Order: sequence, then structure tokens, then C-alpha cells
Amino acid sequence: MVAAAAERVVAELREACAAPAARLNEVAAAMEAEMRAGLREEGGSKIKMIISYVDNLPTGNEEGFFYSLDLGGTNFRVLRVQLAGKEKRVAKRESKEVSIPPHLMSGNASELFGFIASALAKVIADEGRNDVFEDKQRELGFTFSFPVRQTSIASGTLIKWTKAFSIDDAVGEDVVAELRTAMEKHGVHMRVAALINDTVGTLAAGRYNDEDVVIGVILGTGSNAAYVEEASAIPKFEGELPKSGNMVINTEWGNFYSSCLPITEYDQALDEESLNPGEQIFEKLISGMYLGEIVRRVLLKIASQSTLFGKVNHTKLKTRFILRTPDISAMHHDETPDLRIVAEKLADNFKIKDTSLETRKMVVEICDVVTSRSARLAAAGIVGILRKIGRAVPGDERRSVVAIDGGLFEHYAEFRQCLESTLVELLGEEASRSVAVKLTKDGSGLGAALIAAAHSQYQ
Ligand code: ADP
Ligand code: MG
Repeated sequence: MVAAAAERVVAELREACAAPAARLNEVAAAMEAEMRAGLREEGGSKIKMIISYVDNLPTGNEEGFFYSLDLGGTNFRVLRVQLAGKEKRVAKRESKEVSIPPHLMSGNASELFGFIASALAKVIADEGRNDVFEDKQRELGFTFSFPVRQTSIASGTLIKWTKAFSIDDAVGEDVVAELRTAMEKHGVHMRVAALINDTVGTLAAGRYNDEDVVIGVILGTGSNAAYVEEASAIPKFEGELPKSGNMVINTEWGNFYSSCLPITEYDQALDEESLNPGEQIFEKLISGMYLGEIVRRVLLKIASQSTLFGKVNHTKLKTRFILRTPDISAMHHDETPDLRIVAEKLADNFKIKDTSLETRKMVVEICDVVTSRSARLAAAGIVGILRKIGRAVPGDERRSVVAIDGGLFEHYAEFRQCLESTLVELLGEEASRSVAVKLTKDGSGLGAALIAAAHSQYQ
């Protein structure tokens, strides 16, 4: 028997995290309303609805060598692709991943951008002589996955940091100018052809492979979404309407908030103790950076009210962020009869030993409650966007594809299945047949290179 006090904690958690369809429909409606408010005027909503200046998505006809830089989470990636037109598509693709030393995430801007530029310099040096470029400049798409006030296709100022980044002197600065300065210092002569967000890149990469892609979503360390809007439906857009009639909007939905969101005491405490209290509330309920931490907080509460995990001070339950989302994913998918993986994770992460099978089952249930809420809220957000653009609603016959990237969606099968089944639940069997969800891996890398190609100075 699991102690009654522990059972009570889990029951209360289940109750506080409940996200039945009726509630999710409210969330979707609130998301749609916030989107409209954000499009109406600058500062009209907590979600920024940033105009990306990307008015053309790749068609498949792009040709040539292009680069991208992807900065946004735990890793930083450099990608080099050779695009070879409709038939051959991506003929070549080489990438390099560098993990960002934690001290650079909270240092100063020149150190961070210097680190990035030196990695770029190395990639180019490793290429050796490359006749393709002779007297041409290499062109680069820069994926920078933080809220940026975009001022053109290749410039924008940082509004604020999110996730684990906090570099004060970069806020308010043009991130492309910072990158350019660092590149010059390191002798890297590249042209930054486009500054984009990973969601916009994912949308572009998705569209390159499937012309029905209309939404790009990130479910990784953080969470965000971008979609194709009609330019005429953006009252705050000034200047000439683009020829295509379309404009990609980066919603920055991570900062969405509504009183209908199911928020628990654990979320509140997590938020208060975070780097950005009061901000990114939707992201904190959904994304990979936080799910493990929410579970840890629940386990700590159980430990403080029962003897299930032994003496709290003999464990590491009080250490923030010690339990990571890949750990809860591993526990959630544990299919061994005695939940051996759960036992291992509890021992390795927390030094909790000798748990009963019942206790381990309870831990799996907590992972399930926290992850289901996350996946269901993400689905509600997607439904909000679909409704905003009149997709998958009665009378709409078009196929609508949602391109999704990010480690949470890619590696956490229970999460992915829950998101997909919730979409069917919310849209209805029939309408959901015209909606597809597609894992679009490295959309943030390839997508940036594709947008750089679409905005090349040589075309
Ligand atoms: P980023 O968001 O940093 O660009 P990714 O898209 O690769 O990078 O996502 C990494 C995030 O995905 C990690 O922070 C983690 O939260 C989540 N993740 C990675 N692997 C798993 C896994 N096996 N199960 C669940 N979540 C995972
Ligand atoms: Mg990413």
C-alpha cells in the first residue's frame, strides 16, 4: 500500500492538472482571441505575434550551397546544405553540433557570439578550398530562438531571453549586428541573409517537403509556434502588402496565459523561482525544460508528507532541475514487470533506494499526469491556430499539415501519442482526417538555410 498521504498528493495533482475537452476548447478559444489581439496592435496581447518578414516559403526549386546557425537551447548547430532543385532536393547535408558551455548562457553577449563565430570559422576552415564560392559570399540563415522584434528579414532586436539564457547586455540589441561583429573578429566573411526563429524554420522546412504545411511548432527545451497568416489580416502590419499575400507570424505562444489554464501549486512555485517569473507560463506547463522539474517538485512534496522515499535530506529531491524530461520519459515508458528503470532513475537521480513496486507505479502515474497535461495543452494551442486560419472547420476541405520539431515531440512517444489523440478528440473524427502532424527534424537548421536561399542576393 502506498501511504495515504502520498495518494492524496497524487489525487490532488490529477485534479489540478485535469484538462478535459471542454476546458481545452476554452484554451483554444483563448489562444485564438489572444492571437487576434496580438495582430491588432503592438503589445495587444501577452503573445507577441511577431511579423517575421518571411512572406515566401521555399518551393523546392532552390539551388546552391547554404549555411545555417541554430541557437536556441542546449546545443548550437552549424549546418551546410547543397540544394539541388525539385528533383534532387537536399543533395548534401553536413552538420556540426556544439554544446554551449553553461557559463556563456549568463555571461556577456560578445563572449557568446564570439564562441559561435569561432565554431563557424572552424567549419569553414575544415571545408578547405571550395571553388563553388570563388568570388561569391557564403550565405547564412541564422535561427535565433528567443523573442526578437524583427525589423527586416535580416535584423531584429532581442526582446528578452527565455529558457536557460540570461545575458543582460544583449537585450535590446540587434542580434544580427552582434553576430556580424563577432564574425568579422574571427575572419568569417559570410552574409546573414535571414534572421529567423526556429518555429519559422520548422514551418519552412516542413513546407519544402509538403506544400500543405501551414503551421510549425517547437516542442523541445522550449515551446513556440509559427503559421502562415493572410497579410491583410494583420492590422498592425505597416507598409506595402507582400506580393504573395502571405506573412509568416511567429506567435511566441510560450508567453500565452489564460485563467482557464490548469495551473498547480508546483507550477506556481516553479515560476516564482525561475529566471523569468510571471513569464512564459504556457511554455512552463508544456516544454521539455520544465516537465522533469514539475515531477521532481511533486515527488518532494510526497517525500515531505510520507516516508515513501526515506528521509528527504538523504536524497537529492531538493536539487532543482536534477530530474530531466528524458528521465521522466524513460520512467514513463518502463515496460519491465518490476519497473526496474524507474528504480534506477530514482536511485541515480535522487539516491532513493528500495522503493516498493507500488511506489514506482505511483511515480509513473505522476509522469503520466504531468506529460498528458502538457501534450493536451499543446494540442489545444494547435487547434486555436487552426481555428484562427479557418482550417479543419466545417466547410474547409483543405489538407492542413502541422510540422513539429523538438526533442520532446521526437523522443517522448507517450507525449506524441497523447498530442495526436487529443487533436482528434478536439477536432472530431471527420475534420481531423484532413489534419496531419509531421515530425520535421532539424527544421530549425534546414529551414534557416532554405529561407537564406529564398532570400539570396544572387537570385
Ligand atoms: P532545443 O530545444 O534545445 O533546440 P531539442 O529540440 O533537441 O533542442 O530538444 C531538446 C529537449 O528535448 C531537451 O531539453 C529535453 O527536454 C527534450 N528531450 C530530449 N530527449 C528527450 C527524451 N528522450 N524524452 C523526452 N524529452 C526529451
Ligand atoms: Mg531547437
